[in-house]
Amino acid sequence: MFSKILIANRGEIALRVQRACREMGIATVAVHSTADSEAMHVRLADESVCIGPPAARESYLNMPAILSAALITGAEAIHPGYGFLSENADFAEMVEAHGLAFIGPSPTHIRMMGDKITAKTTMTELGVPLVPGSDGEVADAAAARAVAERIGCPVLVKAAAGGGGRGMKVARTLGEVEEAFSLARAEAAAAFGNNAVYIEKYLDRPRHVELQVLGDNHGNVVHFGERDCSLQRRHQKVLEEAGSPGITSEERETLGSIATAALQKFGYRNAGTLEFLYQDGQFAFIEMNTRLQVEHPVTEMVAEVDLVREQIRIAAGETLGYGQADVVLSGHAIECRITAEDPETFAPSPGLVSMFHPPGGLGVRIDSALYAGYRVPPHYDSLVAKLVVHGRDRPEAIARMRRALEEFAIAGIKTTIPLHRRILDDASFNAGDYTIHWLERFVAGG
Ligand code: ADP
Repeated sequence: MFSKILIANRGEIALRVQRACREMGIATVAVHSTADSEAMHVRLADESVCIGPPAARESYLNMPAILSAALITGAEAIHPGYGFLSENADFAEMVEAHGLAFIGPSPTHIRMMGDKITAKTTMTELGVPLVPGSDGEVADAAAARAVAERIGCPVLVKAAAGGGGRGMKVARTLGEVEEAFSLARAEAAAAFGNNAVYIEKYLDRPRHVELQVLGDNHGNVVHFGERDCSLQRRHQKVLEEAGSPGITSEERETLGSIATAALQKFGYRNAGTLEFLYQDGQFAFIEMNTRLQVEHPVTEMVAEVDLVREQIRIAAGETLGYGQADVVLSGHAIECRITAEDPETFAPSPGLVSMFHPPGGLGVRIDSALYAGYRVPPHYDSLVAKLVVHGRDRPEAIARMRRALEEFAIAGIKTTIPLHRRILDDASFNAGDYTIHWLERFVAGG
């Protein structure tokens, strides 16, 4: 086992990884920008290294600075968290070239899944069902039109290198295809330096259902059931549940066996998530994330597993030590992503946190790097706390989340706590009756 790990991230996820390390008796190295010298992940780490100015490009994305910090402190492995360098195959390669372990999948698999066109080709060859669409890249507007004519509108033009919901444009009619194609292409080029796009049928009422998997270096792959992440605004997840209120345990098992068989075939290692859209009883693969996800705690709560600990064990070469039959899912978990934003306009609200009173009690978990007196910097993602609850069933989890949201008090900055309270009170949410389009209409007041 490693004796020291560098955590190449900030905020709640840096703390999350640190907590697993501490419980495993592993020393931690925090890296931080000059804007984060007072951050909780720096305060709680065994050692810390400043890696650059506030702009992420010069600090949390600064590969040479992070590698130097690891070498100087004698860390043996790097955990990338999510975002930043977590899905950067070049970085993973560089880490390994310096004799350190990258706590994640192989660079080859990161690269393969980072290109969504390759990811879809790989998965379909392995028997995983896809959303109908173009056969690979769509090179020009005429080809885009031909695909739309074949599969029927509405269609979605998507960036091959896409992420964070960027580079996606809907064409509701054939007349809109050309414009959607050129807008998506331009946005993809600007955001990812890669203008390759492809086309999918735009599903009108799917749920976003994703499967958590873990593979080791010895050919073992297991899944930990699904998360429902349909509640999204601008293609960004806002609230997640495990399991999905929309699928049956038979469907979970079928999906799980198709997915784990596929991953076993190409020797996937470490944590990964396969994302699907689910509509009319059909699952269709959209992409695979080769990292720990923001919403991993809901899976941890129902499966009683520490996914970060598992990631570290796998990276150290250990075998999983259990099989699919040993994975037991119990109860229901919900996560609310609380961001420093106005709950109605979603305008960013960084600044001084004058009061921070998190909820507690049975079945409540808070993953947050906030504290009273902390100043939320304006430079990074607005996520400030993940409130996670577990209950014996969905109604109990909902009741628990409602009372936890009532207890939660943050002053000084605006947060989305009031939005979450409204969602938890809504009849459709309570009935589990929602699709990926539901929240957008809910926040618009319809
Ligand atoms: P990103 O990597 O940018 O997050 P995804 O491919 O994961 O992109 O899609 C993000 C979200 O966009 C999905 O969760 C879903 O809500 C929506 N979406 C993606 N593909 C489709 C589709 N074919 N039809 C309808 N909605 C889609």
